[in-house]
Parts: sequence; structure tokens; C-alpha cells
Amino acid sequence: MPPLPNSRPHLNTLPPYTPVLPFEVRAAQLGRSPEDILKLDANENPYGPSPLARRALADLRYAHIYPDPESRALREALARFTGVPAEYLLAGAGADELIDLLMRVMLDPGDTVLTCPPTFGMYAFDARLNAARVVEVPRITNRDSPFATSLDLPAIRRAVAEHRPKLLFLATPNNPDGSLPAPEVLGALLGLPTLVVLDEAYIEFADDDLGRAASRIRQVPRRENLVVLRTFSKWGGLAGLRVGYGAFPEWLLPTLWKAKQPYNANVAAQEAARATLHDLDERRLVVAHLRHERERLRLALQAIPYLEPYPSQANFILCRVTGRDAAALQRTLAEKHGILVRHFATPGLEDHIRVSVGRPQDTDRLIAALQEIASTG
Ligand SMILES: *Cc1c(COP(=O)(O)O)cnc(C)c1O
Repeated sequence: MPPLPNSRPHLNTLPPYTPVLPFEVRAAQLGRSPEDILKLDANENPYGPSPLARRALADLRYAHIYPDPESRALREALARFTGVPAEYLLAGAGADELIDLLMRVMLDPGDTVLTCPPTFGMYAFDARLNAARVVEVPRITNRDSPFATSLDLPAIRRAVAEHRPKLLFLATPNNPDGSLPAPEVLGALLGLPTLVVLDEAYIEFADDDLGRAASRIRQVPRRENLVVLRTFSKWGGLAGLRVGYGAFPEWLLPTLWKAKQPYNANVAAQEAARATLHDLDERRLVVAHLRHERERLRLALQAIPYLEPYPSQANFILCRVTGRDAAALQRTLAEKHGILVRHFATPGLEDHIRVSVGRPQDTDRLIAALQEIASTG
């Protein structure tokens, strides 16, 4: 036998794959039926898809035909929804696919990507997959009450000058803390010599018109250095279908079209997303429920003696855990109460949990469990 060829050497330095257990498997592990699990660990939408999206899925006629590679009908509907002409928009299998696509077309090995942790893990993951260097400029945690983070603008300026990153990734609102950067900070970042990627996965929760006031997406056609990514996974309740989109500057679009997989957005995803855009009044109501519940949940979390919640513009709340182990708290919630929340092993976040905003009954169940844990230790 001749020796086998190698996979690309830089991949050997990536951490090994750790599987995310499917929901049903996790439920079985915890000795519960899936319906009895309260899943607050991945910011999914507990109300699910809109009625028109459900109907579109039930009535799907062309599942046996390949999807439109240009997602024309969806992009036209997105143009009406976002106010950005369809030619600037590209749909994908979730925002995650578009993060990967953008990095694949932009990065040579050794190029630099700038991130501001704590933040969404896929930026660093995809950068390393592309043999890029990740430069991190940590957010500043304001340890006063209420807890909050902000971007370290002077340090970002210095890092851009020193490392010349090709891409700067920012989640707005940020995952996991739910903060939005101040407009003047965003304005300053857009003046830097790098391509700024705003990941607006949660922007629809930031104001009462599905993100219209808070989003920067309408600036994309007027700028050379701004990309905005959005998704149907959170506000749209379509996480399982994998559908997202982005607005990209004109110079970058031909390259993205060349590089993208032709059938990246599947028929069911395109149809369900399009139907969601025809059901915006219903979605506004769902988002209003979640925004209202976010405030009720935050006040209830604040009243738990060992939790300090951060203010959030998204559909989750990050909490610092004081006087007890956050990982143990996560385990107790899962094993004793069937409630899944997110704990991060990431440096700086070990003493935190992140809780997705659910329905009123979900808040009640979570708070009852947290109170019981408070009284029993
Ligand atoms: C959930 C999430 C995404 C992923 O979106 P998909 O469309 O489901 O791939 C992207 N960015 C952030 C910050 C997220 O939290």
C-alpha cells in the first residue's frame, strides 16, 4: 500500500469535533419525553413557524425539483421587506453558510479576521477552517449594575492598524450578551479600512418593527465595506429549515455568486421563508410577545439571589452566576427540572449561563426551578 494522502495540515490544529446531541436523544438521556423538555439553550422560537409558513410547507408542490439557484422569488420578497434591492441580496442555508462563503471568497491562508469576544463561535471556527488568523479584541464588561458589555473602540482601532484584518465580524445584537453597539461606535467602525460584517441574526428583536429602525442593512448599497447578514432561524421560527440571507457590496457579489453552491437554499426553506414575509403581522405579534416576555424574564431573573442578568436587545438573556458553579447550575436545571440552558466553557464566560426567552409558561417554569435551587442549594 502506498501511503495515504494527508488532509490539509492546518486542520490538524483545530479542536476535535464534539457532536451536539439531537434534542430527542438529550431528552431520552434525561429520562423525559421531548415534550417535557424546556429548551432554552439555542435561542429558537418557541412559537415556531408562522401559519402561512406552515401551510406553505404542507402544500409544497416541487420538492422533487431542484430549487432556484438564485432564490429569485425569495429575494424579491426580501427586497420589499428590507428596502434593499434584490441584486444586493443572496440567500443561503442559514446565516452560517453565508459566514463560511464570505470567508472562503475573502481569505487567503494567513489573512486576519478580527472578532470581539465573547461572541458567536462560528466566526473564529470558519476563520480557522480557512487557515486564517483570528485577532480578538475583547469586549469591555461593565461590572456596575446592570451588567453590560461594550466594544473597546480604541483597542479595535489599534488592532486594525497593527494586523490589517480583511474582515471584522460583529454580531449586532451580540450573542451571548444581547447588547447593541452605540450608533457612533458603529459609525466609527465603518470608517476603518476593513470589510465590516454585521451579523444581525437577532435584529428583529431590537425594535418594534422587526428591526427596521435598528438594522444597518439599508446602508449596504451605499457603502463599499459593509456586509449585513440576517436569518429566519430566530424571529422566523425556521431554524430547522436552514435559511438566511445577506446584503453585500456590489464589488463582492459576482465572486459570491461564482463560489456559492448552486442549490444552497432548498425548496422548503425558500418557500417557508417567502411565506413568512407574507405573514409579517403575525410575526410582529410573536416578536412583541417575546420582547414583552424578555422584560418579565429579566426582572424575574434579577430577583434570583445568585443571578445577575444583562440587559438584552435579543431573544435571550445572559446571566452572571454568583456564589455557585454555573456549569453545575446548568446540569441541575437539566437533570432535575428538564430545562436546557446554555453554559459556555469559554474564558470569561465560565461563570455565566444564557437563557432563551420563551413563552410566559416557560418563564414561570424556569423561575420556579431557579427558586427551588436557591432554597435547596
Ligand atoms: C443563531 C445565530 C446565527 C445562525 O443563524 P442560522 O441562520 O441558523 O445559520 C448566526 N449568527 C448568530 C450571532 C447567531 O446567534
